[in-house]
Formats: sequence, C-alpha cells, structure tokens
Amino acid sequence: MRPSPPLHFNCRSTVRPVYAEEAAAFGIKESAEVSFSNAPAKGFGQYPINTPSKSIQEKNLESPRKFLGENSQWDKVTDNLKKRYEKTQNTPVATDLVNELKKYPFFKSVPKELKADFENDLLKVEPEQLSFLVKHAKTMKANLNHRGSGAYYWAYDNTIYLDLSRKDPRSVASGYKTDLNAFLHESGHWLDYNSLGGTKIQDELPKLKELIQKDALNYVNQILGDRGRIESFETLNKRRKADREYIDITEKEIAKKSATRNCVSDLINGASYGKIQDGYFHDDDYWISDALETEAIAHFFAGKGSGGERLREIKEAFPNAFRYFDDFIGGLK
Ligand SMILES: [Zn+2]
Repeated sequence: MRPSPPLHFNCRSTVRPVYAEEAAAFGIKESAEVSFSNAPAKGFGQYPINTPSKSIQEKNLESPRKFLGENSQWDKVTDNLKKRYEKTQNTPVATDLVNELKKYPFFKSVPKELKADFENDLLKVEPEQLSFLVKHAKTMKANLNHRGSGAYYWAYDNTIYLDLSRKDPRSVASGYKTDLNAFLHESGHWLDYNSLGGTKIQDELPKLKELIQKDALNYVNQILGDRGRIESFETLNKRRKADREYIDITEKEIAKKSATRNCVSDLINGASYGKIQDGYFHDDDYWISDALETEAIAHFFAGKGSGGERLREIKEAFPNAFRYFDDFIGGLK
C-alpha cells in the first residue's frame, strides 16, 4: 500500500481535527475505516494518529533530519519559500476584486433586493476569474434584472440578459443564492467577444473545435467501455440499432451525473451534432458554424469561475480542449 499524506517524506501537511460545521459544509462523513495504511513505508515518518502527542513534534523533526542530513533546509524559511509566500500575499483578495466590480456599469442592473446575495456569490468565484473580470469587464453591458426569459448574450447590442433571481438548478447545486452560474456563463460569452479588443478569443484558438471533438469522442468511448465504440460523430446514426444503443447508454450515464454537469452535456451535444442529448442541450439547428467553440468558451469561463466540481468535470471530459483554452487565457496580459 502506498503511504498517503502526511506520511510522505518531506511532507509539510499535517493532521488536525475536523469541526462538525466543517464536516457538514464539505459533506465529510464519519467513517470507521481509515483510508490509508497506518504503517508508513520505511523511512516515511510517523503515522500521526498513533504517535503519542507529546513526542509528535520531536519525532517529526528527527526523521527528516535523519534522512536529509544535518544541513538540510527542509524546515528553514529559504529565499525561494519567501518568494512563494510573498506571491500569495500579492494576490488581490476576493473582497477587493468584488468591490472593484461593484463600480462597473453592469452592476447597476442588479436588483436592489439581490445586491447583497449577488455580492456574496461573487465572493465565491475563483480569484483568477474575478481578476479577469476586473481587468476586462469595465465596459460590460448587462441587464441582470431581465425577468421571465432565459439567460443569453445578444451579440447585436453586445449585452447580457439574465434574471439573477431565477432559482436555476445549476446555480442551486453550486450553492449560489442568485443565478450566478448564468452570470459566469454569459459573461464568458461577453469576454469572448470583448476582452481582446478587436478579435474574438475563439479566433485565436484555431484548434479548439478539433480538440473538443476529439475529447468528446474519447469521453463517450470511455463511458461505453467494452460495451462498444463510436468511430466518429459524423457517421453516428440514430436509426442504426447499435448506434441507438450507444447513444442511449451515453445519455443515461451523462444524465446520472450531478446538476453542475451542464457544461459537459451541452458540449457533448454540440460535438455530436446534436445526436447525443441529455441534461442540458441546445436545439439541433443551433450547432452550426462556430457555435461549438462559442459555447465551449462560455462554459470554460464558467468552470474557471466556479472551480470545484464543475471545473473538475470539465477537465475530466475535455482535458485537451480546456488546457488549450486555459493556457491561452493564462498567457494574456
Ligand atoms: Zn451560451
């Protein structure tokens, strides 16, 4: 059995009790079983729970010394460590970023009674995506009090329309009080068209469509496993019996996944030319010209914003397409 943290050599993690509120918030369940071996491999330090508390520190100090030598810097604040620490200190905190966003014109359209909730939801957005919005959304136009219709970005007037008060299951599943998921998605569309000041992000990513198609085909074939194999979405034919079966299996599997999975089901729908549809999808006639890249960018921005489960699911289904997009965004100044 492989030793798990904090049993790794030179590991800086530790063990501490979990409070009941934390356990509830993170969905941690009490278990009689300890998931890792209580006998660390030779040379890998102590199993912290079995170590008498009095001597934990001494023993933990003693063992790395023994293996790394007296001159080891494992417990010293090195220059490199200091630099890394300073870097984290320079990262703008979410509250500063949200306070900045509040000055932007789009924020005026947030209905009064939702302002506090929307602000709180924004504080949960990953700082990297908040920073990106702060940098690029100064001129963003939006009506976030657009009652009674679905969320959309309208390219003709370059404006986002959505109803923040909507109790959308995708936002609810992410623990948001307002329809923040819709905001993250639609602001993703806006950023695609506006953040480069002239060209669209998708125009700078010529391989995006191909990578989404390849990732989608791999993902569907992973779901099928030894039950079958789809050679290409172009030749997939709903009226052929074997293909119909593959489509059914895939749709059922995707539907089983969590409500945050809308990105994945929508993009599989697009990549398969509308042939595989479950959970969230667009109408068949939507997937023409560059719609797949357009939707991928909005979903990827939303994934970067919500982080957690949604981002994990995107990376699992579209590892290459997401990395291609993310590297490009990360390289922007
Ligand atoms: Zn969209």
